[in-house]
Amino acid sequence: MASAIHPTVDRDIQEGAEDFAGGTLRCQCARDAVEVRIDSQVAFNHACGCTKCWKPAGALFSVVGVVSRDKLTVTANAAKLKVVDDKAAIQRHACAACGTHLYGRIENKDHAFYGLDFIHTELSNDTGWDGPGFAAFVSSIIESGTPPSTLPEVRQTLRDKGLEPYDCLSPTLMDVLATHAAKAKGVYREA
Ligand SMILES: [Zn+2]
Ligand SMILES: [Zn+2]
Repeated sequence: MASAIHPTVDRDIQEGAEDFAGGTLRCQCARDAVEVRIDSQVAFNHACGCTKCWKPAGALFSVVGVVSRDKLTVTANAAKLKVVDDKAAIQRHACAACGTHLYGRIENKDHAFYGLDFIHTELSNDTGWDGPGFAAFVSSIIESGTPPSTLPEVRQTLRDKGLEPYDCLSPTLMDVLATHAAKAKGVYREA
């Protein structure tokens, strides 16, 4: 039996609509939901197995992607937002009432991903978001209680869904991180 990965992966993964200009994310509160407007398509959307990203009940993976922080605006009930862990590189802003993470923000200007906010497009009812394109930190699902013996099956399910499984970030994003580190060290070279 194929493993349940995440609701947006277990169904068929949606491809982004051309000219999609964003939508509104809502937390899971039935009343006075926190609302966040995103004025762009999501980039690098992916399944993430780490223990920090928010995932819906029953899902093995989170689905998370990035938008430029200037494209994100909290439009309702901002007072309910709390930072989950202010020591983490990514400060995840969650609804204090329902626990849903609305966005993660990097405040360290020296971080390679500074300027990007992390969002979960499943919190939006708008259609046109680009679905996940790969799976990151797959082995980390063991740290949230998944039996290691099931990992080969999980990786196969991910591949069958078209999500190449990686145990860190994707090669493109690892290259971005390493390029940033090389520039910081002064050893960066163009080809
Ligand atoms: Zn809420
Ligand atoms: Zn994660």
